[in-house]
This record gives sequence, structure tokens and C-alpha cells, in this order.
Amino acid sequence: MNESSLMEKIVSLAKRRGFVFPGSEIYGGLAGTYDYGPMGVLLNNNIKNFWWKKFVEERDDVYAVDASILMHPRVWEASGHTKGFSDPLVEDKVTHKRYRADHLLEDAGVIAHGLSIIDMGEKIRDLKLKSPEGNELTEPKVFNLLVEAGIGAVEGQKESVFLRGEITQGVHVNFKNVLDSMHPKLPFGIAQIGKAFRNEIVPGNFLFRVREFEQMELQYYIKPDSMGGKQHYEYWKQFSMDWYEGLGIRPENLRFRQHEEHERAHYAQDAWDIEFNSPMGWKEAWGIHHRGDWDLRRHQEYSGISLQYLDPNTNERFTPSIIETSGGVGRAFLFVLLDAYREDSLGGETRVYLALSPKIAPVKAMVSPLLKNKPELVARAHEVRALLKKVHSAIAWDDNGNIGKRYRRQDEIGTPFCITVDFDTLGERPELKDTVTLRQRDTGAQERLTVSDVAKRIHLAIQ
Ligand code: ATP
Repeated sequence: MNESSLMEKIVSLAKRRGFVFPGSEIYGGLAGTYDYGPMGVLLNNNIKNFWWKKFVEERDDVYAVDASILMHPRVWEASGHTKGFSDPLVEDKVTHKRYRADHLLEDAGVIAHGLSIIDMGEKIRDLKLKSPEGNELTEPKVFNLLVEAGIGAVEGQKESVFLRGEITQGVHVNFKNVLDSMHPKLPFGIAQIGKAFRNEIVPGNFLFRVREFEQMELQYYIKPDSMGGKQHYEYWKQFSMDWYEGLGIRPENLRFRQHEEHERAHYAQDAWDIEFNSPMGWKEAWGIHHRGDWDLRRHQEYSGISLQYLDPNTNERFTPSIIETSGGVGRAFLFVLLDAYREDSLGGETRVYLALSPKIAPVKAMVSPLLKNKPELVARAHEVRALLKKVHSAIAWDDNGNIGKRYRRQDEIGTPFCITVDFDTLGERPELKDTVTLRQRDTGAQERLTVSDVAKRIHLAIQ
């Protein structure tokens, strides 16, 4: 399977099986937006819940917040987003299509990270770079990615605000509130999951680059001393990788990459990405950044409110440093699908399945009666499903078409187990009474088990 066709297959499967639809599709779509369908919502929630469990619930040193998407405009001045949150834009002089100058340069083999807008213009001229349509390009200009909105009831007097470009600032502006209400001791973290918006010049590659997306982030506040900081930093780097691997992605498709000095934000003391081996090459999935005390210091300066921490042991006051571990939910979702997609041949037919970890699979098991026109089979199958639902609520029912078709549908959404209730379950052969057929997604292998053994099997698999 070639790489671009893998992405096409994922996009088509996502639509066909109710994972992801193009945003506002019946109106022709809206670029850079997607809607999650019934299966997508389940998978997305499972990814977020797994993050929440590991980064928040299982820890005593992490607090949660859920900040507003709309924030005071000064937040974005303090964070530097109104000035610096931009991408370099060039336009095809004939088609007026817009491109990112850094991406066109990178496609031409130039390392564009860290180049100024003027340097990029010079490079484009030196290399006589053209647009992908073969036309002349305009000079690059700075394009701010913040999405603007107007709030207020009176037309013409609306206040202009930004939809948050990252969820990070919603955490930092609540640092003092968490300190004052929960009295945590340093080091501690504040976690959040929420939507962010970016006016991406060229959204694309399905969910990889969109204009509205969700982020999962932990901001971990530490005492600003370089040795302790390094240990915390290494800890969160590995913790984040372990989490990403915990999604069931094959470890050979994940790697760390340290940012070069010129790629790093001026305040960042260190920055590493976790990258995924995607059809577009190795791409950023996650970022772990040592942000120094930049955010708190700036908000302190711009708000005039002290965001310092008073160490109860030493009575020392200082502005904590921050280690951030952050990633996109949609990107994780896309990478999970890309990694899990499989085609093989089963029973002489080509089949498609998603080798999803049972932990995050949208449906854990499907129960069906062998024949849907036999009331006694249907009734028993409903009882079996009700029993299995005690293990997990996501136990599906399917009595449509023949068994083979039902299996194929479940394979395509990554359901790890299919359970069939037949006449033996009812006791046709007394020695098999109360047993069912359990079919494994990845191998297609089938075995006969009691319902309580099936329940145990599902319980173990989803831990
Ligand atoms: P890029 O260089 O790809 O534009 P970035 O370095 O600006 O991304 P960050 O600001 O570090 O990205 O964002 C944190 C995380 O949010 C990323 O690792 C990614 O998972 C996710 N993310 C960022 N931009 C987008 C987007 N446009 N669509 C989907 N997810 C995104």
C-alpha cells in the first residue's frame, strides 16, 4: 500500500464507518473543519479519557481546569501571540492560492525554521521558487493565526476578541486561582483539555492541520533551578512517550526529536517533539517544552497581579518555571487510525481491519444471534449482551446480514471481539449449553467459551 493511498483509505473509512465527516458537508464543506460522527466521538473520548486518567486522575500533584475559549485580549498581548503567533504567507500571483513560505522552502530542501521573513523572500528569489501551479509568488508576509470574533449586543460596538490559539494561557491565567483555592505545594501541575483555533493558511492532511482542534496539556510548575528542572523535564518527556505508546501505536512509528536552537521560542530552555511516522513523513505529534518562567512573568507584568509562589519551607518568593507537555487530540486520533489500519486476506477475501488497542476501541465487543428470525436465539443474545454490558457499556448489537458481513463491519471499526449466540448456547448439545463463539478481530480465530469467560476476556483486554 503506498503512503498517500493509506491516507485516502483512512479518510474514506472514517466517513464510511461514522468516525469523521467533512465539516458542514451538505453546504459544500468549510475548509479546515471536520465533524466527529458516532464512532469518532467514542474513539476521541477514549483517547481523552486515557490522557485524563494518566495525567490527572492517577496523580496527586495535578489539578484540572477548564478555562473559557474567549479570553481578555490582553492575555494574547502578554503571551506574545498578537505579535508573534504567525506564519509566513506567499500567494500565487495568478491563482491567488495561498501557501506557507516555510513549507515551500522546506519542500525545496531549505531549512526554513528560524529564517526571518526577509531571508525567506531572498531564498525564494535565489532559488526562483514557483508555486505548486508553476506561477510567480508574492513576497512573503507575516500572517497572524489568531481567529478573531466580535462579542457584545450592539452592532457596530462589538468588542473584538480572539478565540484562543492555544489552551496554555487559560491555565497560566488561573495559576493564582489554583494556588489560592487548593494550596498545592511545588512542584505541581495544572491540566486541561479544550478547543483551540488557528487561522491556518493551508489546512490539510485530513485531521493533521485543521482550523479548529482540541488540545490536551499539562503545565507543570517547578522551582526554577536548572538541575531539578532537567530531571522534571526528562521525566515528563518519557511520561509523554509512554502515554503515546499506551495508545497502542507501534513504538517503531514514534520517535523523539530535539528542536534545533533556531527552532525554539526565545524563552524555551529545551524543546522536544514526539514525532509519528506518517504518510507525510515524520510529523509532530506532541511537544514537551521547558518554557522557563516566561508565561507567568509576562502575565504578572501585563496584569499587575503577583503570580509568585511563596515557598513555605524557606519563605522564599519566586516565579516558578514551567514544563509543558502538550498535544492535539485530533492528531493523536489520526495517528492512531493510520497506525492501526490493516489489510489482509481472510477466508480467501481481502478484508480491512483496525488493529486498535481494546482500551481505546470505540466498541469493545459485538453480540449477535446466529439467526435473527429465531426469537429464542435473539432473546438469549440480548441476555448475553446485557451481561457483558456490566463489564463495559460499549457492547454493540448487530443482527443485520450474514455473520461474515457483521464481522467485516466490526473489523473496520476495530472491535476486538465478536460474540455469536447459537443453538448450542441454548443447549442443543447439552455439553455446550451457555457457551458462545468468541471471534478475535486480528486473527479471525474462533473459540467456544462460557459467557462468564468472555466477560473476563473483555475485562482483561480493556485494562
Ligand atoms: P505546527 O508547527 O505543525 O504548525 P505548532 O508547533 O505550532 O504546530 P504547537 O503550538 O506546539 O504546534 O501545538 C501543540 C499541539 O497541538 C501540536 O503538537 C499538535 O498536536 C496540535 N496542533 C497544533 N496545530 C494544529 C492544527 N492546526 N491542527 C491540528 N492539531 C494541531
